[in-house]
Amino acid sequence: MNNINYSRYEQHIELPKVGLEGQEKIHSARVLIVGSGGLGNPVALYLTASGIGKIGIIDADRVEESNLQRQILFSNEDVTHTKVSVAKSKLDLMASNQKIVAYPYFLDKKNAASIIGDYDLVIDATDNHIARLIINKVCLTQKKPWIYGSVYHFEGQVMTFNNEEDSPCFTCVFSDINEDSTLPTCKSAGILSPVPGIVGCMQANEALKIILNLNSGNKHMHELCLIDFLNNDFKKINILKNTLCNTCGMNEA
Ligand SMILES: [Zn+2]
Repeated sequence: MNNINYSRYEQHIELPKVGLEGQEKIHSARVLIVGSGGLGNPVALYLTASGIGKIGIIDADRVEESNLQRQILFSNEDVTHTKVSVAKSKLDLMASNQKIVAYPYFLDKKNAASIIGDYDLVIDATDNHIARLIINKVCLTQKKPWIYGSVYHFEGQVMTFNNEEDSPCFTCVFSDINEDSTLPTCKSAGILSPVPGIVGCMQANEALKIILNLNSGNKHMHELCLIDFLNNDFKKINILKNTLCNTCGMNEA
């Protein structure tokens, strides 16, 4: 049993469906955040504040001035420094008996299985499909949940993949995406500053719900959430597992 600081986590401990037992689950959880940018920053801040026991952050990029418009962990003096080292130093100041691990390189086919193997849950805070395809495949093999998030202009998308029987995987949803697919990055596409913040907070919220086992019976586990922040329009699309899916369909045999 962990030593839970009651006063620090009072608002969780008082919360129905969380309580002391829930806070202990949060403190025992290990979450990997892939990407330390507009999505990864709010995810890391909220998961650290919530008391997650071990948080890994993987990203090879360095802080650029143009990141500061939305990447809220970084300040002027951090420009040119590696994102994960700056993130770790700032999150360590917030941490309470928690471990923050910085991986200053990109997740790839070679390192993904061993890194993800050290965590219970993965959050996709990347801006590219290649990383998502790798996360999808490894999490499917290791039967781990992961949370997809993406942003574009004034829009966002979030979906949880729990990799349980009959649940869809990323390529069930985006069957036309492959390693050659390219996406415009924020740098080239443009993004309103708070949009990745809201989507990242939704991802952190989904992560905590999985850790606290608050999702059982929730049908949104199989839904893609599409958000239009210009009109405050939230849409959910029910996704079925595709038995012909290139990634998870083979498991049907
Ligand atoms: Zn699939």
